Amino acid sequence: MSAPALRVDGVTKRFGQVTAVDGVTFEVAGSELLALVGPSGCGKSTLLRLVAGLFPADGGVIELDGVIADDQHTSLPPEKRRVGLVFQEHALFPHLSVSKNVGFGVRMGASSRSARVAEMLELVGLSGYAERYPHELSGGERQRVALARALAPNPALMLLDEPFASLDPNLRVQIRDDVVEILRSTGTPAVFVTHDQNEALAVGDRVAVMHAGHVAQLDSPENVFHRPVSRFVASFMGEADFLTGAQLADIDGVSEPSDAHLMVRPDDIEFAPSETGTATVIGVEFRGSSRCYTLRLKSGMTVRSMRSHLVETPLDTRVSPGLVAGHRPVPIAD
Ligand code: ADP
Ligand code: MG
Repeated sequence: MSAPALRVDGVTKRFGQVTAVDGVTFEVAGSELLALVGPSGCGKSTLLRLVAGLFPADGGVIELDGVIADDQHTSLPPEKRRVGLVFQEHALFPHLSVSKNVGFGVRMGASSRSARVAEMLELVGLSGYAERYPHELSGGERQRVALARALAPNPALMLLDEPFASLDPNLRVQIRDDVVEILRSTGTPAVFVTHDQNEALAVGDRVAVMHAGHVAQLDSPENVFHRPVSRFVASFMGEADFLTGAQLADIDGVSEPSDAHLMVRPDDIEFAPSETGTATVIGVEFRGSSRCYTLRLKSGMTVRSMRSHLVETPLDTRVSPGLVAGHRPVPIAD
């Protein structure tokens, strides 16, 4: 079996009193795209910088393709790691043309290098832009150049740190999909950092959810969303209400033990107006294609219910709540 593209084992990094990365362990397989998601300040960028070799770890081991890049004895310099980096703040050289930026890290003879630069610009859809300067490009184009530059030396692993966070939402989705496509077509494994849970679910083969320097859960996108291991993961990855079996008892279809601790998401719950209903509509938020209702249950607790925008139920309506067919509350340990 070949070594994973990246192995991080018990890695820790402190800045003074702050432990930014706290005993983190995970692997990235051959051509895998791992999404690393978590709130601001949880240690995502520090972890990527450790992998890139921008500073050494205080503990643990980092291996790239089976070669130790960082342990207590060794710290390979960034240029020996064959890692491509793309940051949010596109760090292009302002005084170099697009082609010079892209060719910067390519160690080849002049003619091979210019062929490689042309190939990379074609890959990111910027063939006509070789002689422009960074200030003559839009934000999206600059990020494509940064990607081309990172890919040009043929890295064994790509590290992307919120690369599209500064772009407007529509452009962002389009460029993100292009980048995922490029990583897949070149078979390049990658760690893709984002603070946006929907982006993580959409791009990751697996998703690592980080919290306060730890990896709280590393799993398939389906499992981090539908089988979260903790309240933190459950509420970070999507809207969630936490109730006991007893508090959910008047929801049709719920048959969980009364002392079970459970999570339900708004798409799990539906309702129908009913004079004998035990729940009451106490809030509604219009979201375009849907409306998110808040229901007060018999227990006094509230749950949210996501319905089509066509469902228009006034406040104070009495309703009978039920589970959507196929949905179930999820047990949550803590
Ligand atoms: P994220 O990328 O998830 O937002 P960071 O890795 O940037 O988080 O930061 C994690 C923690 O480490 C934060 O508390 C941050 O303030 C701290 N930190 C990051 N870089 C430094 C640094 N160079 N010096 C001191 N503290 C830092
Ligand atoms: Mg960051």
